This record gives sequence, C-alpha cells and structure tokens, in this order.
Amino acid sequence: MHLGYKKTPMDTATDNLSFSAICDQWDREHLWHPYTSTIDPLPCYKVVSAEGVRLKLADGRELIDGMSSWWCVIHGYNNPRINEAAATQIGKMSHVMFGGLTHEPAIELGKKLLEIAPPSMHNIFYADSGSVATEVAMKMAVQAAVSKSGSHKKTNFVTIRSGYHGDTWNAMSVCDPVTGMHNAFGTALPIRFFAPAPTVPYDGEWDESDIKPLEKIMIEHADEIAALILEPILQGAGGMRMYHPQYLREARRLCDKYGIYLIFDEIATGFWRTGKFFAWEHAGVEPDIMLIGKGLTAGYLTMSAVLTTRDIADTISRGEAGVMMHGPTFMANPLACAIAIESIKLLQEQDMASRLRHLESQIRHLIAPAAQLANVREVRVLGSIGVIETKEPVSLASFQRECIDRGIWVRPFGKNVYVMPPYIISDDDLEHLITETIEIVKKL
Ligand SMILES: *Cc1c(COP(=O)(O)O)cnc(C)c1O
Repeated sequence: MHLGYKKTPMDTATDNLSFSAICDQWDREHLWHPYTSTIDPLPCYKVVSAEGVRLKLADGRELIDGMSSWWCVIHGYNNPRINEAAATQIGKMSHVMFGGLTHEPAIELGKKLLEIAPPSMHNIFYADSGSVATEVAMKMAVQAAVSKSGSHKKTNFVTIRSGYHGDTWNAMSVCDPVTGMHNAFGTALPIRFFAPAPTVPYDGEWDESDIKPLEKIMIEHADEIAALILEPILQGAGGMRMYHPQYLREARRLCDKYGIYLIFDEIATGFWRTGKFFAWEHAGVEPDIMLIGKGLTAGYLTMSAVLTTRDIADTISRGEAGVMMHGPTFMANPLACAIAIESIKLLQEQDMASRLRHLESQIRHLIAPAAQLANVREVRVLGSIGVIETKEPVSLASFQRECIDRGIWVRPFGKNVYVMPPYIISDDDLEHLITETIEIVKKL
C-alpha cells in the first residue's frame, strides 16, 4: 500500500551514501518494492529478525519500529502466544478450501468478530487482503442495491476526497483522485462521485456546512449510487486526516434518507489504532458493510474480512445471481484464522482502552514541540497515531538514512511524518522514537 514517490536530487545523493552492507544488490536489480522505479530505486535496508518493537538489520543495528509495518503489527514482533497458535495450527492443517468445507478456526474467528463488531453485523466474508476486501464490499453493495431497487442503474459509488481504499482496480477508483492513482490509469478507471474531504477536525466545533456537498451529490444521483464508502474518523494513506464524528452521524442520516448503503473501511482504523476497538465507536453510528484487515492478523499473514447485516446478505441472495459472487482460493485460510483468534484474545484480555489513553497522552506530550518548528504546518494525534505535517514534501531517502543512524524506523509519505508504534512499546522507546523523529524533521 501507500502512495507514489518521485525522487529528488537530494535523494539520489543520499542513495550513494546509504548503499552499504545493509542493502542488497540482487534485490535492487530484481525485486519490485512498493511503488518503486527499476531504473532508480530508493535504498531498502535488509532486516534479519524482529522482536518486540525492534527490527534487527543485517549489520546488527536495531531500529525501534514506529510504523507497526504499515499499521498491522499491533502486538509487536515475534509474540510467543501468536507464534504458538500458528505452530499448533500448522501441525493440524495450514489450508483447506472453503468451498463445501469448513473448519473450527473460521467458526471461532467469526464468533470473535461478531463479539467485537457493531451489533448489526451478522454475516462475514473472509478475503485475502485489504484491497480485496474493498473489491468484495463494493461488489456486495452493488449486488444488494440492484437486488433491492430492481434497477441496474444503482451501481456507482460516492466517497470523500483524501481517502485510501487499496490498490486494486475498484479500490483505486475510490482513492483520492489527486494523490491516488487516477492520473496513471486515467479513463480505464470507473468514474466515481467525490465529495470534498471533511474539514472540521476531530475535536473541532462541528459545522453543518461540512456535510452539504455530500448531500448535494446524493440528492442529484441517489438513483445511480449503491453506496458511500469512507474511512471513519481517520483518513490514513490519503493524508492522515482526523475528522469530526458528527460527519459520520450526518453521513448515516443521509444514506438512510436517500437509500444508499454506508461502507466503513476500518482496515487501518480497526483493532484499537484510533483509541477505540473500531473507529465507528467514536460516532456511535453503524455501517451497513464494514471492512477489516491489517491488524486483524497482527502482521503475521495477509487476511481481511467484510462484515455485513443479515438484511444485505439476504437481499443479495434474493437477487438475480442468488449468491454473493466472490470466492478466493485462500478464503478463510485456517492458519490466518488461528493467528487472528489469538491476536483478538490478547486484545480482549487487556484493558486496551486505558492502554490507548496512556499511549495517546504520551504521544501528545512528546510530539507537541514539533508544532513550534518553522517547517511544520500542524501536529495531530489520535489514539496511537502521531502526525507531523510538514510544509514541504519530505525527501524520503535522506529521511530514512537519518532514521537508520538514529535507531528508529519511520516512513513518511508526502508531507506526513507519522508514528504508529506497536501497542506494547515502552515509554522510553516511545520517547526515543518521537524525539529522534522531531530531530530529523528539524533538519529537513
Ligand atoms: C491499507 C489499506 C487498504 C488496503 O489494504 P491492503 O492489505 O494493502 O490491500 C484498504 N483500505 C485502507 C483504509 C487501508 O489503510
């Protein structure tokens, strides 16, 4: 996941410096990394093992991980309980097809998901990754909307700008049209309706005008729109923006009024990242379809799930196809299910609400000085996420080089320098992570 990045002359200069023993020439020649040029790739540092919040590099150096490996390693690396759950499951079966067969890990995980999901969720579709979950959710919404309305016109989507929903075709089509990949794929992508991104911040004073443009689109195009898809409360890879819970309450009201389904993409926000088990809890309104991924398997394996109401599931089944038209090879992979079950147990055994309150107040306190820097536009904090938005885009290669030298791992995109460590991080490590991050920002 994540957004494209064009190298600056500064990056190329830093490249030569950092291309040492911890990078790999064969890798550089042959392996594509996310959004990478084969002609002029940025350095990639070789990790040999990881433990707790620390990544160990090939030359023995250790880095405090501020990224949770793109949101997912919530309990830290090499967790003994999850390791054991995985090993036990491998000893039984790693995989079995889900067509015509079922297994205990899928059932037990499903029960756990319904314990923690919004109360109206009833049916679960297991998918392979976040992007695939987006595809499945969009197919689900279209099948249900067409079945319910009897109209083959009700197949489009409305979303808000600055969103990110994944890299597959339909997911790309609802990502932000400017910072997303619309330019590269142009007219090949389906055309969606875009409302402006919410402007009232999470703890700002609600202003009704924020929701008006969305309502206007719904008034004009309700007969073409199957669903509204958005990331509740926190827009992640599209800009790390945190918006007002009232926006979601209004969105729910409008969706009901205009007969449009509401999809919450909780792939990034789920599993306590924003300070609640799921971000919908900030607003207290439930979606019709909810996507989870990333933290679901605590960074061990790729897996996602799409949850929906009994009504939508049955509406699809009464429709033309009569079934939900999707079925991945690795659907409900037992190994991934066993890992997810253990990870959720770990979350349920702890007082995560107070853990997250502690993390949030520490991050708030430690990151505050960054707001005074001349090259910083704004500092934002929610749950275990701290964002320093700079005035100019950050030069990635030199930033990463500095990280390696200072024993931390932070990967900015655009103007967003952010930390989101595993929840087990100690106060001392968190302080080191954020103080060093600010030191690097100072030198930008
Ligand atoms: C990461 C992400 C996705 C895509 O997940 P992948 O597993 O990378 O395909 C979708 N939606 C949101 C909100 C995400 O943060």
